[in-house]
Amino acid sequence: MAPETAYVIDFDGTVTTKDITTELGLYFGGTKFIEIDRSYQAKEIPIRGWLQAEVTLLPVDLEKLKSKAFEWAQIRPGFKSFLQKAHAGNNLVIIASDGLGFYIEPILEHFGLRGEVDLIYRNDTFINKQGLLEILNPHAHPTCVVCGNCKARVVVQQKAAGRPVIYIGDGSNDRFGASWADLIFAREDLAHSCEKHNLAYSPWEDFYDIINVAEPKLTDREAGSLCLPLGAGVNSNQHGGVRR
Ligand SMILES: [Mg+2]
Repeated sequence: MAPETAYVIDFDGTVTTKDITTELGLYFGGTKFIEIDRSYQAKEIPIRGWLQAEVTLLPVDLEKLKSKAFEWAQIRPGFKSFLQKAHAGNNLVIIASDGLGFYIEPILEHFGLRGEVDLIYRNDTFINKQGLLEILNPHAHPTCVVCGNCKARVVVQQKAAGRPVIYIGDGSNDRFGASWADLIFAREDLAHSCEKHNLAYSPWEDFYDIINVAEPKLTDREAGSLCLPLGAGVNSNQHGGVRR
């Protein structure tokens, strides 16, 4: 039986209580990372540039990075129950992350949750042949330079397969994927972005708030969407989310 609804879920600050990519930047990059983050918040650089700048500040030691990630990794309350309920209802659970990515599967494994997640779209952080830390964006849009991981395309692909999408997130860059979803659960910066861009959303604190939600109808969201994942993406000069 084909899955009924797809949940597209951000990882950092959504599945986990803390944004581990930001924590790593702050811990190892200090004031240099704060300046990079200020440029991102001011929309001077997109999230892809933010990630590329961050990796230059981190130690070239993935084990060390992973052990710090584990120190900060806490799963948001209700996630395990939510996963069980989602699968009992024959739904698809997808994680779409635009963070450093390398710690996602290890953290899910550690908490006994890896087998409950159907698909993971994430960036990859690795040590290259020059001995430098590098971030790869295997799920980026082919020309749009804004996001490292094109979450909007993940949403659109699920809808094209006939599944309504529920988007769950907390970050401002989640607005692109969320704008295509049939139902948005937003907290923190994503909630602010939804208000700014007139996207209807439900506020949430933990996964118990989402567990009993009624599944939405598949709806065409193109008119209110903030980018064109199967078209030109986002205009690179307008990180605020204006389409080409
Ligand atoms: Mg997040």
